[in-house]
Amino acid sequence: MTTKTIMVALGGNAIKSADDEGTAAEQFANVYKTSRELVKLIKAGYRLVVTHGNGPQAGNLLIQQEEGKRLVPDMPLDVVGAMTQGQLGYMFTQALGNLLRAEGITTPVAAIVNQVRVSPDDPDYKDPSKPVGPFFTKAQADELAVSRPNWKIKQVKPETVEKRFRRVVASPQPIANVEVDVIRKMIDAGIIVVASGGGGVPVVEGKDGLEGSAAVIDKDLAGAKLAELIDADVFLILTDVSHAKLNYGKPDEQNVGEVSLAEMKELAARGDFLAGSMGPKVRACMKFVENGGGRAIITSLDHAFEAITEGFGTQIVG
Ligand code: ADP
Ligand code: MG
Repeated sequence: MTTKTIMVALGGNAIKSADDEGTAAEQFANVYKTSRELVKLIKAGYRLVVTHGNGPQAGNLLIQQEEGKRLVPDMPLDVVGAMTQGQLGYMFTQALGNLLRAEGITTPVAAIVNQVRVSPDDPDYKDPSKPVGPFFTKAQADELAVSRPNWKIKQVKPETVEKRFRRVVASPQPIANVEVDVIRKMIDAGIIVVASGGGGVPVVEGKDGLEGSAAVIDKDLAGAKLAELIDADVFLILTDVSHAKLNYGKPDEQNVGEVSLAEMKELAARGDFLAGSMGPKVRACMKFVENGGGRAIITSLDHAFEAITEGFGTQIVG
């Protein structure tokens, strides 16, 4: 039995498909499908640490804050991030726990609500890049400029679209997981840990200690940082495409297979890995390998097992 540790980062599709409404039943069904793939790796003897995105869930919760604020106080973005970690952590611990027990495997599963330290001087605070929550009309955007003076609203769709404005928040670089020592102890105790969900709750040093920040950390970059801090052997990003591709979307599209870090750096410079989707995944993988990680992989959920056992997918090695 090998005891290789794999840090797995699950994309939005692992939890909510594009055409899903987002009901709890749909999300549970997707979490079960994802967990079945993860159980294959656990049965093969790998130690897993799991992280996940929270975009659709955080977006929906923000709408609930907006719509419900006349009845109950609305929660700020850091608290909403923590709420989604709780929600998805619960779904994964239940699904993984049930599937493992059905196989007679008693390995415990636990999720941790996890803070990630960021710098208040991160350049993204000056020019926030991450759209969150509902879309607004021009009139609503003007009203929000008065009622929510600390919100930044940007036009994210062309003039022809009525609801073209959206709140944007900073997406600062993750520096370190605050609870990394606890996570390490859990891993050493043989627990399958779900951590740093949604990129983790971003926190900065305030005058009385850590304080939440109205930001959203990229979950792939945060996952790579956690993978590095826990000395994972492999950082495995599971998304909805089997490979990172060159000439993406063009007739001569080409899969990237196993490449060295130096080769991937050259390929990334071509600009085929788009910002906001494949770009951060490739950057996260390169950071993990650059900081001493053995192997980083990008592939789709259904190829997770082959990626680990047969080298399938985009694989970046030192
Ligand atoms: P996740 O929810 O897993 O983070 P994303 O949508 O953020 O998923 O990223 C995966 C998407 O990246 C793919 O569905 C694809 O549309 C897009 N993408 C952009 N550039 C590339 C590329 N060069 N190769 C493959 N996919 C790419
Ligand atoms: Mg993404």
